[in-house]
Amino acid sequence: MKLALVGYGKMGRAVETVALEKGHEVVARIDPTLDTHDISAETLAGADVAIEFTVPDAAVDNIKALATAGVDTVVGTTGWHDRLDEAAAAVNGAGTGMLHAANFSLGVNLFLRLARMAAKMADALSEYDVHIREAHHRHKVDHPSGTAITLADILVEELARKESWSATLPEGGPHPQVLYIASERVGETAGSHVVGLEGPDDRIELRHEARTRVGFARGAVAAAEWVQGKSGVFTLDDMLAETFTS
Ligand code: NAD
Repeated sequence: MKLALVGYGKMGRAVETVALEKGHEVVARIDPTLDTHDISAETLAGADVAIEFTVPDAAVDNIKALATAGVDTVVGTTGWHDRLDEAAAAVNGAGTGMLHAANFSLGVNLFLRLARMAAKMADALSEYDVHIREAHHRHKVDHPSGTAITLADILVEELARKESWSATLPEGGPHPQVLYIASERVGETAGSHVVGLEGPDDRIELRHEARTRVGFARGAVAAAEWVQGKSGVFTLDDMLAETFTS
């Protein structure tokens, strides 16, 4: 498969390493720090699929430009999902395929499923105070992380006592019906997420820790193989539906 890398930072480079190992060809690298920084049929150089890991402010324009160029796309950038409808309209209008995920690690996707099961069970135990903690490297610009938002949406869906989630503690203390997310941005860590259940007598924690970026890159390259030639907007759940049957 011929791949274009849109965004050639930490993730773009990790994706390149994995893609080359798997026998794919990288035909374009597009990034403002390189000579090639615009998305066009010419700069995409015949790519079958583009893999986009850039910054939240650039993602939607990049998705639109890639759809216009007729190239299927995998989007790993986080922090732009409030504009998903706009991006999806461009992709559907062009008849291309897009797979987006806030976290391409297959382990994280197993973790999300475990969190849903834990929340279903914890729903019966109202004395457990459920919360999320996430930590990432200090260069990450968005917070809470896209994965923490996905986790929060799952927990709010499954816990009758939580009506919404928030990343900000209000003056006067937490509201019981709100699920809180605490974020840390420190050092060079690849990323960790914890679902905490704080009980009166004990504490239960479900934790996922990424040790390297390679896991995300592997998932993104697998997503590129899967989305090539498809039309429409997909998430990693669509791709993994056959892997995780419950
Ligand atoms: P990074 O800062 O190392 O790289 C981002 C790159 O994007 C930079 O090289 C920058 O010059 C480039 N860029 C900026 N604007 C651009 C534009 N308009 N067109 C093309 N390139 C542009 O960041 P990173 O660690 O590679 O992460 C990138 C994004 O991916 C972030 O949003 C991060 O949260 C997300 N991320 C997602 C996953 C996942 O599994 N989905 C995993 C890790 C990181």
